[in-house]
Amino acid sequence: SAKAAGSNQWAFFKEQMTERAAVRLRTEASLHDALKNNEFVLFFQPKLDINTNKVIGCEALIRWQKDGRIISPMSFIPVAEETGIIIPIGRWVIEQTCKTLRDWQKKYNYVIPIAVNVASQQFADASLVPDIKQLALRYQIRPELLEIEITETSLMNDIEQAIAKLEQLKSAGFGIAVDDFGTGYSSLSYLRHLPITTMKIDRAFVSDLPHDSAIASTILMLGRQLNLSIVAEGIENEEQLNWLRENDCPIGQGFFYSKPLPLDEFENKYIATQSAQIIQL
Ligand code: C2E
Ligand code: MG
Ligand code: MG
Ligand code: MG
Repeated sequence: SAKAAGSNQWAFFKEQMTERAAVRLRTEASLHDALKNNEFVLFFQPKLDINTNKVIGCEALIRWQKDGRIISPMSFIPVAEETGIIIPIGRWVIEQTCKTLRDWQKKYNYVIPIAVNVASQQFADASLVPDIKQLALRYQIRPELLEIEITETSLMNDIEQAIAKLEQLKSAGFGIAVDDFGTGYSSLSYLRHLPITTMKIDRAFVSDLPHDSAIASTILMLGRQLNLSIVAEGIENEEQLNWLRENDCPIGQGFFYSKPLPLDEFENKYIATQSAQIIQL
């Protein structure tokens, strides 16, 4: 009967929900353990001046080293966000980045800025700004060396709050980049009120180059009008790079230059030997 079918479906639905909740709980528990057991690591990907090939900064990207495998952030950051454990994980990322900057300064008397990704929920958390300031102070980091990457979507969740927070970060001297620009639905009229320093063109639009360049051109024009620094993400080949150079995009990042590297490898290549700052293509 229809009633029996309905109740079967309900039972099935409940089972599915319970299963999903169980998976979530298990993942949350293992993320807690991962944090406790130091299983997270940061990889670093260089950002280059497109005209000189000089490494002018880098982005820290989290990985989970679990039973000898490396797990991508795409498979655990969403769960971390859902469960709230992104807050302590995000704090770990910022502290680790501050430590790295201090180490480079001490060992080589040479540093380049490091950008960290901040998740929506982490950005919404009241402790973010005081935490960043406190960590920079504790590790004696010049704020210009730490850049915060926030997706367009996170900024648009609560625009008034976002402006207030960015204002505090910017006036303290930290860099602020809008990540994955062009994939969200930001209101252009708000964009000019956001105290940001950098715009990152999403990889999706870079991969369309050089044939389909309408969006990349528009973002470059907008960034220039707003006096922002512009980074093209996900450059994978020379044709894309040539288009970006010809169209005056100042900064690039992508596999064509380098994949994200483990700390020691990145450090040896780009920090220890300052003569290696220029990537030979
Ligand atoms: P994102 O911040 O936009 O980072 C860029 C992603 O593109 C990275 O993936 C990077 O490895 C990848 N990528 C760079 N160049 C190329 C390229 O030429 N081709 C292709 N196909 N990919 C390229 P990854 O490291 O897997 O990170 C994915 C996303 O996970 C990041 O996107 C960011 O949203 C998030 N994420 C990474 N680390 C953190 C973190 O510490 N905290 C938070 N909240 N999110 C993070
Ligand atoms: Mg990013
Ligand atoms: Mg991005
Ligand atoms: Mg992204």
